[in-house]
Amino acid sequence: MLSLLRRITQEVTAAQSLQAALDIIVRRVRRAMRSEVCSIYLVDPNSQDYVLMATRGLNADAAGKLSLKSDEGLVSLVGRRAEPVNLEDAHVHPAFHYLSGTGEERYRSFLGVPIIHHRQVLGVLVVQHEDRRRFDEGEEAFLITLSAQLAGVIAHAEATGAMMSLTPNTPPSGTDFRYKGIAGSSGVAIGKAVAIYPPADLDVIPDRTPQSVASEIEDFYQALGAVRKDIKKVSSRLSQHISTDEKALFDVYLKILDDNSLAAEIVRKIEEGNWAPGALRQVVKLHISVFEQMEDPYLRERATDIRDLGRRILSHLQEKTTNVSEEITGPVILVGEELTASMLGEYPLEKVKGLVSVMGSSSSHVAILARAMGIPTVMGAVDLPYTKLDKVDMIVDGYSGQIYTYPSEAIIDSYQQIVDEERELESEYEQLKDLPCETLDGQRIGLYVNTGLLADVNRSLDRGAEGVGLYRTEVPFMIRDRFPTEAEQEQIYRQQLEGFAPAPVTIRTLDIGGDKALPYFPIKEENPFLGWRGIRVTLDHLEIFMAQIRAMIKASSGLHNLKIMLPMISNVAEVEEALALIRRAYAEVKEEGFDVVMPLVGVMIEVPSAVYQAKELAAMVDFMSVGSNDLTQYLLAVDRNNSRVANLYHTFHPAVLRALADIVERTRGEGVKLSVCGELAGDPLGAILIMAMGYDTLSMSSTSLPKVKAVLRKLSMAQAQDMLHQVLPLVHSDAVRQTMMKLVREAGVERLIRPSKTAALQ
Ligand code: PEP
Ligand code: MG
Repeated sequence: MLSLLRRITQEVTAAQSLQAALDIIVRRVRRAMRSEVCSIYLVDPNSQDYVLMATRGLNADAAGKLSLKSDEGLVSLVGRRAEPVNLEDAHVHPAFHYLSGTGEERYRSFLGVPIIHHRQVLGVLVVQHEDRRRFDEGEEAFLITLSAQLAGVIAHAEATGAMMSLTPNTPPSGTDFRYKGIAGSSGVAIGKAVAIYPPADLDVIPDRTPQSVASEIEDFYQALGAVRKDIKKVSSRLSQHISTDEKALFDVYLKILDDNSLAAEIVRKIEEGNWAPGALRQVVKLHISVFEQMEDPYLRERATDIRDLGRRILSHLQEKTTNVSEEITGPVILVGEELTASMLGEYPLEKVKGLVSVMGSSSSHVAILARAMGIPTVMGAVDLPYTKLDKVDMIVDGYSGQIYTYPSEAIIDSYQQIVDEERELESEYEQLKDLPCETLDGQRIGLYVNTGLLADVNRSLDRGAEGVGLYRTEVPFMIRDRFPTEAEQEQIYRQQLEGFAPAPVTIRTLDIGGDKALPYFPIKEENPFLGWRGIRVTLDHLEIFMAQIRAMIKASSGLHNLKIMLPMISNVAEVEEALALIRRAYAEVKEEGFDVVMPLVGVMIEVPSAVYQAKELAAMVDFMSVGSNDLTQYLLAVDRNNSRVANLYHTFHPAVLRALADIVERTRGEGVKLSVCGELAGDPLGAILIMAMGYDTLSMSSTSLPKVKAVLRKLSMAQAQDMLHQVLPLVHSDAVRQTMMKLVREAGVERLIRPSKTAALQ
């Protein structure tokens, strides 16, 4: 049963269009369940009617033409209840409605299960029999399982299918296809999408119209020839060391390559208008799905060979591929399955005006980087058919998390107004640069920046930062191919410390693990966010920890503005151990003759245990900074990168706010300075609440800083505290945010928080 389910899902996933996918489902399900009828009805998003999209057993001509109203018949009953309906005799059920023209009258027994994706009913899958016989429990369970597995595939095919149904020759501009993701970095970008993908991964290759069919074909043959040569070379090099069996594998590869049919098929796809990598993906995936369905295990294995060969050809093709963003002269929006920080580095950043990632959430590190760079970003756009969107016009709304493809003039106009409004606000902020962050009733709060790159230094000073609240040292570690030496680190840290001196710079010890991997120090774990991460790694590797601390202290020589911060602290012992090592490193460096003072040392509060032990920790250190990104993830048990649960990642969750307020209470009288350096501090609504709770400083991306300052300067501490008291008793995250929006509107600062037009476009 499992292998049957898997095979059907694979076949449906490989389908080239929505209709093909639906046809495969009805054909395969009817056969698997030995039912007389199998049909799929999908909900029309405009009318909410259930349209008969595909059928085996009913009148085939009716498909696509007949539909049931949203309150008509058993099908809509299944949809409304979002539950299966299993009937021995459908005709006697009060909801039965005969859909004339289908030939349905003969069939008595009925089993319908809903197709649900992200809580939304997409349609209904139905099987029917002539006999009056209830479908048994096993059959019902099979159909439910299949429907749950296929819902995501159907949703994706639906989104793609709707778009592809427009003929490629008439540009479908003005159709305003809208996709929902998660707001990753605020702002609006209007430009052309460029689909990017990791190298040699066939699954993520986009379709693209070739500039010259002839040269695509030539490139393809060259790549094919190169792979053939590679394989022959490897085969002869290994011939003395491998068995005949293993050698046979190479012969199979060569046979597949020499057999003209695969190459001919790919060339045909190129001639039909796809570029070589796209044509290769189409043909290879089709062959893989055919082989995978074979009963014979030997033949099934050939799927792996084809996939491997496809990847080899692709990597040769990619050596030749030019960077598409060079061909596009206007603003570019990078769109990818899983954008990473390093991918950003490969494109000319002056052209990149927006980012869209199918995976990930607003607290993924690429989103944090995007906010630091001020690039509007949408994350977790799970239904976006991104491989079909290369060079397509697009709007990215980083305020609401919406994406528009093929936008109409009207929608472009509306968004252009937001862009203009943003520009005006920027110049207003500019005037506040040298003014302190002081409330109307004269309370000062420190506004610090989070940094990672050298480029952040100037950008932060330009925006009026008073110091660095979090320097993420993993960033310079990530962009190298080995651990930087102590001397190299000293130089890197010196640039940050010097750039801001005499203002303080808080350098955090290496926080790798979780989703931050070093290419040269891979950590493979089932549960990386609960695993070997942050301080846990560095205390296990004293050579890394000591080199880093010594480099920091040396770099502060003569400047005396270093603060050291420890990430992922979950118990007191870690702090004791780290403090002893820091004192040792300080003594060593001092002995070496450097002009240094013992730096202030602080911990991050980002694990629930640290909230409950805040008092004990406070007694040991000079300062504490709340990492609200991780604290939210660990308090709510929601992976900060997982788009499937991103709708549960609520930074304004009452429990998160209560924990933040609790930290202030628990550490009162301990003499520690408190700050928040997670993304919540850079959200003006969050900043108001954090200030009202009594935190001393906020640390955020340089992009957010001017906006936060503008808002806090327009409020009094008393007003902020009043807002805090109104939202603390609320029990829903949404209510907290909505109430805060209402309160800032009443206080007259909403305009500074988001352009007025954005509300109308939600
Ligand atoms: C946090 O967790 O809030 C934080 C600031 O650290 P990072 O985002 O680097 O994990
Ligand atoms: Mg963290």
